[in-house]
Amino acid sequence: MLTAVRKTTPKAPRITAGRPAAAKERCPAMPVADWKRQLAGAIRSGEELLERLSLQAHIPELARDSHFGCLVTESYLQKIEPGNINDPLLRQVLPLLPEDDASAQQAGVHDPVGDLNAMAAPGLLHKYHGRALLVTTGACAIHCRYCFRRLYPYAQHAGLEKNINDILDYLAKHPEIDELILSGGDPLVLDNNKLRTLVAQLQAHKSLQTLRIHTRLPVVLPERIDEGLLELLQKTAANGLQVVMVIHANHARELDNAEEDALQRLHAAGIILLNQSVLLRGVNDSAEALSRLSKRLLQCHTLPYYLHLLDPVKGAMHFNVSEKDALRIHAELEKALPGYLLPKLVREIPGKHAKTAISRI
Ligand code: SF4
Repeated sequence: MLTAVRKTTPKAPRITAGRPAAAKERCPAMPVADWKRQLAGAIRSGEELLERLSLQAHIPELARDSHFGCLVTESYLQKIEPGNINDPLLRQVLPLLPEDDASAQQAGVHDPVGDLNAMAAPGLLHKYHGRALLVTTGACAIHCRYCFRRLYPYAQHAGLEKNINDILDYLAKHPEIDELILSGGDPLVLDNNKLRTLVAQLQAHKSLQTLRIHTRLPVVLPERIDEGLLELLQKTAANGLQVVMVIHANHARELDNAEEDALQRLHAAGIILLNQSVLLRGVNDSAEALSRLSKRLLQCHTLPYYLHLLDPVKGAMHFNVSEKDALRIHAELEKALPGYLLPKLVREIPGKHAKTAISRI
């Protein structure tokens, strides 16, 4: 049986409560270039989040089970509309009572995508031919309430430095793996020195041709896309390892000017940018919301890639959109968008050798 553990986050000084000046304004006192300081100062309680948004009246609606705590960066907070409990960005990060409701969550499981059965070496998941996924860290800059790894036993399997030799041995024995996916947690929570060391170790494996980075940081902490990271990614590509970054935006309003700027800099550095979203009840479950997202992504040099049905993890089932509704929304989206902006509707089924496309028959 899996052990649910609290996801790791960097230690934080207490943040000062108080409303943001306005949803679209950056706090002038915030040293926006210092992503580590912003991460350390992130909001870590539902109460504080609601107070900052003038929504104290909703504190009794907060989830009580705290194993997967609230975590929200200042950058993300600034994009949430104060006073609106139904804001689609707030719904993604606010721990609410349905997370604890046994009947609402009964269809959920601990490991909805079969990660643990696919573990080839500590933290290295090998599910698909030619591709493997490395869980680099359990830490994130934000806790998305629908996260399919919210119950992943990071404490048992994390520890990149400790496990790296086993991981490299496995890659050496499997030269058919030509693409490595850095995941987590969020791999960009690792600082540039750690990433540089990891990339150098991976780059020694000549069979690897592509490094794919799955990250939500360009969306929730755009300050992370600093010069050091851009230089590292450019050098990686120049040394023969193609870099693809898959960001994770679920709503057009997540991509404000700072996020657009971060993605523009990645694009200018030659990084291929794709987006994957999760179809979430109360967040983006309409063709209109998804169409706006696709068009906004294009302005940010990022192409929509996958629209995932919710992975049925316990604690997140209240976000579920039925397959029938998903197909209806996707059909409407197909009419509204050119083909290159239409994400593929998929579901991950444990044990399958690729994502399963959901389509009308
Ligand atoms: S969805 Fe990604 S960023 Fe969000 S909590 Fe899960 S691993 Fe972290």
